[in-house]
Amino acid sequence: MGKRKSAAKPPPKKRMDKLDTVFSCPFCNHGSSVECRIDMKNLIGEASCRICQENFSTTVNGMPNLCIKLYRLLLISLL
Ligand SMILES: [Zn+2]
Repeated sequence: MGKRKSAAKPPPKKRMDKLDTVFSCPFCNHGSSVECRIDMKNLIGEASCRICQENFSTTVNGMPNLCIKLYRLLLISLL
């Protein structure tokens, strides 16, 4: 009978990639100064720059990748 190695390593767990919540600021061009927060209760996403205090908020009703979407909306709003 073939013996099986019992010390099989468990497969590496795929880490949940942390979604980007920090972006560069289109207002002051400072890298990674815009932080995104999602208010799940009120479904409002808010992105604000800690350097120039600019902020942008919008409703984020059930969007995937909320922060990224929010940031895109911010950029679009500047066009
Ligand atoms: Zn800024």
